[in-house]
Amino acid sequence: MLQPTKTKNTLADATTWDFTRDYHSFANIEQVQLTHVSLDLLVDFDAQRLIGKATLSLDYLELDITELWLDSRDLTILAVTAVDAADTTSVSTAENEAPLDFILSEANSILGQKICISLPTSPCKQVCIHYHTSPAAQGLQWLAPEQTAGKQLPYLFSQSQPINARSWIPLQDTPKARITFDAKVQVPKGMRAVMSAMNHPDTPLNGVFHFEMERPIPTHLMALAVGDIAFQAIGPRCGVYTEPSMLAAAAKEFEDTEHMLEVAESLLGPYVWDRYDMIILPPSFPFGGMENPRLAFLTPTLIAGDKSLVSTVAHELAHSWTGNLVSNATWRDLWLNEGFTTYFTNRIVEAVYGKEQAELEWVIEFGRLTEEMASLPKDKQTLPANVQQGDPNLAFNRFTYEKASMFVHDLERRLGRVAFDKFLRNYVDHFAFKAITTEVFVEYAQQTLLPLHSDKITEAELLTWIYGEGLPEGYCGPTSMSLDKVDDALACFIQGTAASLLSVKDWRVHHWQYFLTQLPEVISQVQLMDLDETFQFTQSTNAEIACDWFRVAIRNHYDPVLPALSAYLVRIGRGKFVRPLYAELQIAGYHTELKDIYTKARAGYHPSIQVQLDKSLIL
Ligand SMILES: [Zn+2]
Repeated sequence: MLQPTKTKNTLADATTWDFTRDYHSFANIEQVQLTHVSLDLLVDFDAQRLIGKATLSLDYLELDITELWLDSRDLTILAVTAVDAADTTSVSTAENEAPLDFILSEANSILGQKICISLPTSPCKQVCIHYHTSPAAQGLQWLAPEQTAGKQLPYLFSQSQPINARSWIPLQDTPKARITFDAKVQVPKGMRAVMSAMNHPDTPLNGVFHFEMERPIPTHLMALAVGDIAFQAIGPRCGVYTEPSMLAAAAKEFEDTEHMLEVAESLLGPYVWDRYDMIILPPSFPFGGMENPRLAFLTPTLIAGDKSLVSTVAHELAHSWTGNLVSNATWRDLWLNEGFTTYFTNRIVEAVYGKEQAELEWVIEFGRLTEEMASLPKDKQTLPANVQQGDPNLAFNRFTYEKASMFVHDLERRLGRVAFDKFLRNYVDHFAFKAITTEVFVEYAQQTLLPLHSDKITEAELLTWIYGEGLPEGYCGPTSMSLDKVDDALACFIQGTAASLLSVKDWRVHHWQYFLTQLPEVISQVQLMDLDETFQFTQSTNAEIACDWFRVAIRNHYDPVLPALSAYLVRIGRGKFVRPLYAELQIAGYHTELKDIYTKARAGYHPSIQVQLDKSLIL
């Protein structure tokens, strides 16, 4: 196995890290591995908690171990029992369970608490944990009826990635441990529960739902949502779940999903998860999408009415291969998921919506990367995210996504598409249902890609992309002829041409995004008003355009946007939008406004976003 040299790795004490170890889990998975979780959960909306038990099936790698270490965060553990070894085929009951001693460690602000369970002398095959979650569980968001579209029923959804499965299930919460699961979920009558498992839209809404996921998945893909949720099929294998009032718009917006699935299969091989359904969540969902297998979770901000933002659907779908099939072993290796997926998204967009659209999106990605390169310390600009000692949420940045995607695009450019596609497909086949580290990828490339293509890429070039800071010397980013007309308009506007005289015919969302993000840092109030009156940016119903415009406006103290900005930040909780907007408000010195807006908006944000903003905002 290749070890990065000290200069190529940004850690000052790189030699002390064991990159095969997941520093974000307490679990002793080298000794005993969780193979299956059987959940029995009651969803208590009044107390905002899940009450239930998790029966964990264990596979012992060392027979003489005396303790099982699990991850948890803010869980109340009521009892831990061993299920009778002679009776493991039946469901655990009070009769066949024997109590086990356990201790919870002191809470660590990042990792939560270790549950240390004393195992009986003859190893038990199953351990049962009776527990309930806390209303503050970071992996669950409880919404009051008024925070939903229908305003009648409450709503619950989970977000386990990166390390919050442990806040609603006691388990070995590491991508290195793959598990299958089944679940019985009890909810108030009239509500529907869905999970990252096989969902049956015909199930009567009588309060009890059963689920099964028989393919092993990393624990950060455990997912649950409960609410007033309806279903509409949009293809033989695809459908959308969402609140009834959003169903028709969602089904229309995402009607190309089955086609995307066929394209993806032609690139990377058969889809192994059977169905690909999506759930469109309330606007407080903190991400664009989450690739929960069989049921991708999506933000409603993707519904633009013109399919302009559906590349996020392609992205979550692409994860079915890169991320869910071949997974990161630790959060340091997140780029293996996100880089290949971001690249693969672009290939799906190219096949479904054409080369021009794919190039546009690629150029916009590159723009986001160069923007973050200007602000993030150099030592954070490698593909492996060195978050061993820190919060794994920090691994989700432009380097693990866009820089890694530029690397994969560059591999394609060097090898040629045919040879590269062959490599990619073999890579996915080789590591299917496995979790790999950066170094395992490098070793695989050394054995397969480099010997075959030594005239196209050297080992030094490969390692510079992966372990080097920033972008490799001489790397030219992508270009798109389709943006020439936007560059022309920008030049005219900067020289004083009135907005109404700019040639913006046939511009689509990505042209506008490029225009807004390429505007000069400083713009006069007169020009801002001209832009706004001509193009109605403040009133934009496209969440991306609105966000890009608000950033321009805040930085230039264009105060007419403030009421719309406030309404936007109260309504939408997607981290991609709210984090930069609050940061801009802070930098521009809008302290009173920031405090007012955050006070109104905070309760509607997901707990993980609240934690991040509480830390970063000076109120
Ligand atoms: Zn992703």
